[in-house]
Amino acid sequence: MIEEFREACGFTPEQILGVGLSVPAIVSEDGGTLINSYTFRLQNCLVEQFAAHIPYPCKFIRDPNASALAEMHCRSGQENLFYLSLNRSVGGVLFHGSQPYFGDRGRSGEIGHMVLVPDGRRCYCGKRGCVNAYCSCAALLKDFSGGLEHFFELEQSGDAKASARLDECLSYLAVTLNTVRILFDCDVVVGGQLGAYAERFLPALKQKAFALDPALPESDYIKACTYRTEASAVGAALLFIDDFIETI
Ligand SMILES: [Zn+2]
Repeated sequence: MIEEFREACGFTPEQILGVGLSVPAIVSEDGGTLINSYTFRLQNCLVEQFAAHIPYPCKFIRDPNASALAEMHCRSGQENLFYLSLNRSVGGVLFHGSQPYFGDRGRSGEIGHMVLVPDGRRCYCGKRGCVNAYCSCAALLKDFSGGLEHFFELEQSGDAKASARLDECLSYLAVTLNTVRILFDCDVVVGGQLGAYAERFLPALKQKAFALDPALPESDYIKACTYRTEASAVGAALLFIDDFIETI
């Protein structure tokens, strides 16, 4: 598929710098090892296992990191930012001084597993009350079929069940966002698959965040993501492009 795509784009193999593999996983700093993925049920997987089938240099990148890289690329001049990735699971990345902060073990920003409700709903990690169990797309769409587009169509048409579910999700999201704001005092970008629908819920989310904590300067710290789709693909590509530019 990669070769077909390259040919369809009219590029020669020599023009391809590499292939970034955006994965829902903790990965090593050099992108060479997928350390742990609950989603894939995979541990300590080397990128060589994929690279054996792909004729270009390959690197893993944790998917929220990839999306956040793409977002920062569009925000030249912004130094501090927390990117919240709302996909099937929730992740995040803190940028400080325009650089991502990954922590001592590459696990910084794993906000999906921050406990929001003690003894709350079960998270797929085994703990109870994690942000994932309340604010992820999986939590939002539980008992709904047809994906996000269909869910928001229902909500817009006044479906009571969809409206109640969105309202509940936004309430928990507002608590999460205010916590991030208190910790890091920077803009928080709402991204990931849910971020693509930000226009439909951002005003309500800001209202909830402000009502919870009027002491915060203003709920304007909550921003919609720039890339509405495929942000992680752009970020995974930027890994190679940034390295290439450094060599010029
Ligand atoms: Zn969890």
